[in-house]
Amino acid sequence: MTDPPLPFVDLAAQYRVLQPRIEARLNAVLAAGQFILGPEVTELEAALARFSGVDQAVTVANGTDALRIALMAEGIGPGDAVFVPAFTFVATAEVVADLGATPVFVDIDRNSYNLDPAHLRSCLEETVRAGALRPRAVIPVDLFGLPADYAAIAAIADEQGLFVLADAAQSYGASRGNQRVGSLAPVTATSFYPSKPLGCYGDGGCLFTDDAARADRLRALRGHGFAAGGLAVEVGVNSRLDTLQAAVLLAKLEIFAEELAAREAVAGRYDAALAGAVTLAPRPAGSASAWALYSILLDDRDRVRDTLGQQGIASGVYYAPPLHLHPAYARFGGGAGSLPVCEEISHKILSLPMHPYLDADSGRRICRALLEALQ
Ligand SMILES: *Cc1c(COP(=O)(O)O)cnc(C)c1O
Repeated sequence: MTDPPLPFVDLAAQYRVLQPRIEARLNAVLAAGQFILGPEVTELEAALARFSGVDQAVTVANGTDALRIALMAEGIGPGDAVFVPAFTFVATAEVVADLGATPVFVDIDRNSYNLDPAHLRSCLEETVRAGALRPRAVIPVDLFGLPADYAAIAAIADEQGLFVLADAAQSYGASRGNQRVGSLAPVTATSFYPSKPLGCYGDGGCLFTDDAARADRLRALRGHGFAAGGLAVEVGVNSRLDTLQAAVLLAKLEIFAEELAAREAVAGRYDAALAGAVTLAPRPAGSASAWALYSILLDDRDRVRDTLGQQGIASGVYYAPPLHLHPAYARFGGGAGSLPVCEEISHKILSLPMHPYLDADSGRRICRALLEALQ
């Protein structure tokens, strides 16, 4: 008898737990018929702001738009340099290039896989010295759910007046010290893509800030640039979160804290079983990850991945290659060898199944298969 396949993320298991609550929420929207900016959207924004410990939450259509709208509100455009880690999902750099600005790729810290503040400083100095671009913003990414080093980044950003936009698409629910993601940067963007720690049943995203005037601007931009009096005061976009998605998220938010604890337990079991055999997922002191992904380093990654796959165990490679080695972004980067840490890690990284419903037996099966593959 063969063992059942183990998926990377198990949304069906979550649905079995939440089905009555989700269906009641969806049915209420269907009965009321207010599919755009219905009362659930306002209710969700208040609940998310409370959860994150910030004053303002502005929902949008997806995480990429959240990043884009935050940069639009800051007036980022041609001639501007925006510093981004090269080890991230393409959206982080895409929004910069799409607005006509220039992404400047920064290497990562091998102890967190997040933006390396020391390399940010040298990239910033180099950009100032070259003189062709105005340094305007930095987008730290909370990769795999672990918050970036916002204190160190803010210290560098403040010297040059850089706007700090947190790409928290993978880290909603995570914290640094006693502060939750959403409150760690002047503006934070997250995603509710279904497989993110807090996911809806389609696309969704949100922006967080403590600045009420900035929140008004973000709200106007997401809805065609309309201000309170019904006048379009600037050129905006259409990027609203559907009421049906807000309904799903309200149901999921009720158990989100428990799910975060369950993710932490899954990560802890991986750590205990794999310690000494592989390079474990980073766990810097003082931070709590949302564990969007649990990622280890292996010298022989591709062979191990094939072996797991033959046993029905899903795994993923995030991210290879790093962004500066993708054809569409090569013109912004320095080519192979220019960012050695993320280039090395992209060859070794492997993400294992991670979701709140991964039980201890399944975790043991994954670790046993992995340790056998390493023999
Ligand atoms: C998922 C993701 C995004 C984009 O979010 P979407 O909701 O899919 O648009 C942006 N940045 C990072 C790091 C992501 O993981």
